[in-house]
Amino acid sequence: MKKTICLLPGDGIGPEIMAQGVNVLEACAKKFGHQFTFTHALLGGAAIDACGEPLPAATVQACQAADAVFLAAVGGPKWDNLAPQLRPERGLLGIRKALGLFANLRPAMLFPELAGACLLRPDIAAKGLDLIVLRELTGDLYYGEPRGREVRDGQRVGYNTMIYSEEEVRRIAVVAFETARKRRKKVCSVDKSNVLETSRLWKEIVEETHASYPDVALSHLYVDNAAMQLVRDPSQFDIILTGNIFGDILSDEASVLTGSLGMLPSASVGSTGPGLFEPVHGSAPDIAGQDKANPLATILSAAMLLRLGLDMEGEATAVEQAVRQTLADGFRTADIMESGKTLVGCTAMGSRVLERL
Ligand code: NAD
Repeated sequence: MKKTICLLPGDGIGPEIMAQGVNVLEACAKKFGHQFTFTHALLGGAAIDACGEPLPAATVQACQAADAVFLAAVGGPKWDNLAPQLRPERGLLGIRKALGLFANLRPAMLFPELAGACLLRPDIAAKGLDLIVLRELTGDLYYGEPRGREVRDGQRVGYNTMIYSEEEVRRIAVVAFETARKRRKKVCSVDKSNVLETSRLWKEIVEETHASYPDVALSHLYVDNAAMQLVRDPSQFDIILTGNIFGDILSDEASVLTGSLGMLPSASVGSTGPGLFEPVHGSAPDIAGQDKANPLATILSAAMLLRLGLDMEGEATAVEQAVRQTLADGFRTADIMESGKTLVGCTAMGSRVLERL
């Protein structure tokens, strides 16, 4: 297959980890007989330095013209004192909006080889942790109107609006059920329908959408219980489907359980057009340019790009297996180092994965 992938290396460790991700994609193309064309565009601090803005129009065009977008990370102290609309992170929000990405998938997976880093009790971790938090990204309290601050009866008040339309809920529910079909076929929808009207509509629409997916098991949890169950027994979850604010909190909770920031990939997708695939971590300016960064979150994001962005399941699995084998063979970057293992840098870690691919 011929596919175009737009690369956004960004700032800090971005170019280093991106290089390893691209090596893996190229090796995959060779192994499976595909032809990947890579286009390059500027985002974040790199774009500010070259063009004076974090998201140049040319970058939006390059992303829209691609089959998938692969991003490393943006930001750094050099740009911290700029006005908010000129900061690197603004480029990130802008490209998500320009591509209409309403669904954010954050897998939390515990590699048995890294069980020592897991924050859970060993008997809980032993039951396994392999779930995806699917968070709605463009609605809810963060964007609802009216919002504001004012004085009422002599008191300062602040207010926001929690709001979802049925179409916003339906389209993310479809992503949840479709994703579950490719995994263990379980969706747990998380809301607060005992208290919130928005959540009651959410639950209703998720149930209506479920009628077209009888092969997927659907359950519901209140968000407070979900937060507790994630720590008590995360092995019960496959896909956790939830709104923007609950998802913001639960996705961080789920991912931190694994204990390894340098291992966490993510994907953002819309209804049409290319998806965006990126590691969860930032640009790690403290270790930039030192060949110390862990490239595995980026390589695992490349696997998500293959699976969800290009519909290449076998290729994605091959990449994930190469990562697992690399860990099983004892190679570790500094952030996940344990005694008795072999310390490697960013480039060497990428090469070890390539050898196993
Ligand atoms: P960070 O994720 O960049 O770093 C936090 C800590 O984790 C640092 O000690 C760093 O060295 C370490 N770390 C992160 N990724 C690593 C990797 N792959 N391998 C080894 N160690 C790794 O978060 P921060 O320090 O809060 O932010 C730094 C910059 O990144 C800021 O400008 C911030 O705005 C930006 N940021 C960008 C994104 C993104 O591009 N999606 C996300 C978060 C933060």
